[in-house]
Amino acid sequence: MAINIGAYQEVLARLAPYHARLVAVSKTKPVEDIAALYAAGQRIFGENYVQELTEKQAVLPADIEWHFIGHLQSNKVKYIAPFVHTIHAVDSLKLLQEINKQAAKQERIIYCLLQVHIAMEETKFGMDQQELQQLLNTYKANLPDFANVRIAGLMGMATNTNNETQVRREFHQLHALFGSIKITYFNNESSFKELSIGMSADYSIALQEGSTMVRIGSLLFGERTYSQK
Ligand SMILES: *Cc1c(COP(=O)(O)O)cnc(C)c1O
Repeated sequence: MAINIGAYQEVLARLAPYHARLVAVSKTKPVEDIAALYAAGQRIFGENYVQELTEKQAVLPADIEWHFIGHLQSNKVKYIAPFVHTIHAVDSLKLLQEINKQAAKQERIIYCLLQVHIAMEETKFGMDQQELQQLLNTYKANLPDFANVRIAGLMGMATNTNNETQVRREFHQLHALFGSIKITYFNNESSFKELSIGMSADYSIALQEGSTMVRIGSLLFGERTYSQK
């Protein structure tokens, strides 16, 4: 399946007025497709599976900024810690602590986004507001213990529905939460800046609702057939 350069250009054009960035989600796609989008200028790629990411990273250009966007198990952090730039789906204190530990071993900083559950579906990962606040309270009270991670913002996934009103409402709520957390926990610092919302089907709505980073896969790389993984 070839990549869709026309769609890529259109996405970039739509992001530009918002100064939002594109994470090209390449999970299940071959390295040839990633190399082709790289040749077109893309540098930020997102992957969901640890082994797949480490295999791809080993053979692709070193200046790719790799984002891990899937659910991450603590015992697998060590495999991606040597190179991963941002981890989008941090959903527990335990995971944040492990990322810090592995980043410290590598003498690196790893950027982290905290995943908030905003969808109706039970199955989507992420913290509720209370869990998020608990994590941030612990983080703030123990800042020296987190020297190798930077909490750069929030991430969320809207309900998988054609109901635009609902998707917009979910993104809107997350943007409001982002704003209040930035003030309450980060003293309005510019380092807390990312709102990772929006995928192929809903990124236009996400941009209108404050997205700074969209995660787009199928629009660029075609539909995924999971068997090819
Ligand atoms: C797969 C995935 C995406 C991309 O989804 P598309 O609908 O293909 O754009 C975005 N975010 C996460 C967390 C994903 O797992």
